[in-house]
Amino acid sequence: MRAAVFEGPGRGLALRELPTPHPGPGEVLVRVAACGICHTDLHFLDHGVPTAKAPPIVLGHEASGTIESVGEGVASPRVGDRVLLPAVYGCGRCRFCRTGRENLCSSLAFFGSSVDGAFATHLLAPAHVPVPLPEGVPLEESAIVADAVSTPFHAVRNRARVRPGETVAVFGCGGVGMNVVQCAALAGGRVIAIDIDAQKLALAVELGAERTIDATVESDLPRAVRRRTDGGADVAFEAIGKPKTIRQACESLRRGGRLCVVGYCAEEVALPAQRLMFHELEVFGSLGCPTSEYAPLLELVRAGRVRIVPLVSAKVPLDRIEAGFERMRRGEGLRTLVVS
Ligand SMILES: [Zn+2]
Ligand SMILES: [Zn+2]
Repeated sequence: MRAAVFEGPGRGLALRELPTPHPGPGEVLVRVAACGICHTDLHFLDHGVPTAKAPPIVLGHEASGTIESVGEGVASPRVGDRVLLPAVYGCGRCRFCRTGRENLCSSLAFFGSSVDGAFATHLLAPAHVPVPLPEGVPLEESAIVADAVSTPFHAVRNRARVRPGETVAVFGCGGVGMNVVQCAALAGGRVIAIDIDAQKLALAVELGAERTIDATVESDLPRAVRRRTDGGADVAFEAIGKPKTIRQACESLRRGGRLCVVGYCAEEVALPAQRLMFHELEVFGSLGCPTSEYAPLLELVRAGRVRIVPLVSAKVPLDRIEAGFERMRRGEGLRTLVVS
């Protein structure tokens, strides 16, 4: 098989021919159709964030494909099935996995970090991991459901529990933030999208944002949110992962508001404890998406209620994966798919 191998920080990706793995008992081999390029990959490549397993490792954790072969004892999925591969998966045995919170599994596996990922023609996975795709959902574009759509879906539905009529401020409209906009609007939230990119803000409106704030124009974002919401947002999402924006998101809340942190941030963040107490603010995080959420989400995708096609801004073949990363470094587009 052909694969883009990460050999260590600052060394880029090397295209290599590797032996195609054979599925062992309880495993399946997936022929990868597409894999989205995510900021997490850029953290590994450019910013020194270590992969869970030391390099060399194949990156890529937002994949779709078809089942090419199955190992001994695997009854489903079957050869030829169209599937998506959730970015992370649990062991299936621990207390979190057995209570529907596989995303908190104590031995969570992460494609393209703890095990080989999908910037390759083939990918090995435990048989319980692939999620079948409904009829009518496009195979390549479905890749982005595996992370960029499912992570926001869980954050909006299960963590922040956005209710109809609530005001929702979304800080950052990249791959994840844009889908927070989309999912929060679908839940009945009145969404204010905040970003520095006018094109992204225009797409946010198309996907359900009622209002936008251009962060290159507004210097005081919490004040700008408070002005547009009668004293502050009911819910704020931070989908960037920067201390400054996490603080701004917190400061944009009204009394009794909720802050949901979806962006990955390695640094510590100082929050106004006095406001947390006097205003009964809630602050919580959200990680990935439990397995049980994929079926209802894919049903919304199939019905056209959650849109995925407008979110894919480019497709590049595996051999030109570097061009895809260059687009992301330049901040171009929303999601680039690597197709094999
Ligand atoms: Zn990701
Ligand atoms: Zn587990």
